[in-house]
Amino acid sequence: MQALTNRAKAVDRRPMSFAEKMYLPAIFKGMAITFKHIFQKKSTISYPEQKRPFSPVFRGLQILNRDEEGRERCTACGLCAVACPAEAITMEAAERKPGEEHLYREEKYAAKYEINMLRCIFCGFCEEACPKDAVYLSETFAPSNFQRKGFIYGKDDLLIPHPKDNQTK
Ligand code: SF4
Ligand code: SF4
Repeated sequence: MQALTNRAKAVDRRPMSFAEKMYLPAIFKGMAITFKHIFQKKSTISYPEQKRPFSPVFRGLQILNRDEEGRERCTACGLCAVACPAEAITMEAAERKPGEEHLYREEKYAAKYEINMLRCIFCGFCEEACPKDAVYLSETFAPSNFQRKGFIYGKDDLLIPHPKDNQTK
């Protein structure tokens, strides 16, 4: 029967020679390959002391952004949650009260905003869906944790520090 591709290989069914039965040629061949790799540049690194640079298109942990005056940009419109294919985002909206204009940019804001990092696949759809430039994916990743609840990131974890807090440091 004619083969569909030319990749088929005939199986060698000859009886093994004495040297092959001793497995010595195969052992020496394997050791030669091992020694060859000893003097080659290592392809592994000593993480976490050494870290590889991320790719320019790397998408990591989400950040909730503020405007130039330090006010929260998120208006709790829910578009990021709708766009999220993993249903990882939940939020609760609240009305901005008089006197809170310095805290929230819009009349509505996210009183609660959570991302479940165990669900997130870091696709970046939330960033693309956001009309307020309020959420974006940074160049870091969620650190390991022993408990599932440690992967539920709330506003405290996601919101970038207020610019004035940075000035006082
Ligand atoms: S990166 Fe993708 S999966 Fe993760 S929260 Fe955003 S939309 Fe959802
Ligand atoms: S992060 Fe953006 S898309 Fe998501 S609720 Fe806030 S404003 Fe809307």
